[in-house]
Amino acid sequence: MKALVVIDMLNDFVTGKIANPRSERIIPTIRDLLERARSDRGEWLVVYANDAHLPQDFELAVWGEHAMAGTPGAEIIPELAAARGDFVLPKRTYSSFHETGLDPLLRQFGVDTVVLTGQHTNICLRHTTADAFFRGYRVVVPRDAVEAVTEEDHESGLRYLETIYKAELPYTKELLD
Ligand code: ZN
Repeated sequence: MKALVVIDMLNDFVTGKIANPRSERIIPTIRDLLERARSDRGEWLVVYANDAHLPQDFELAVWGEHAMAGTPGAEIIPELAAARGDFVLPKRTYSSFHETGLDPLLRQFGVDTVVLTGQHTNICLRHTTADAFFRGYRVVVPRDAVEAVTEEDHESGLRYLETIYKAELPYTKELLD
């Protein structure tokens, strides 16, 4: 059983307060992966891990206010909207596992492999991959379904995931074949 995890593809992260124009190029690949996963619910769980910050969350000292819970900025971009049967988990810091209930959810469904998508390669992807690795999950990061703010951050982020956590870094196409 696999879980497709979509991280921080939210209005504030794509076009809003901390907009990343580079994130627009991964929308089609994530959409393809969502379509595949939803067409095979017996093999795939679809999970969104979304920033939903409260005032004075520690991370706001670094980034300023973004994706504040309950605001339009914290909503998933319309192109990748959640569907019936998907799980949407709010988070208040970088890792999708940190106090979100993701780990018990994955275990309830017998998930052993997580396919991580979204942004940013060198921040939330990195911390989420670390936590998945610590918990014994196989980690797959489709390299064209994640992005960072710069090419250097993206490339060095991918190298770190591969070197330190043995993350697999296929192209999305290879996962859809
Ligand atoms: Zn945040």
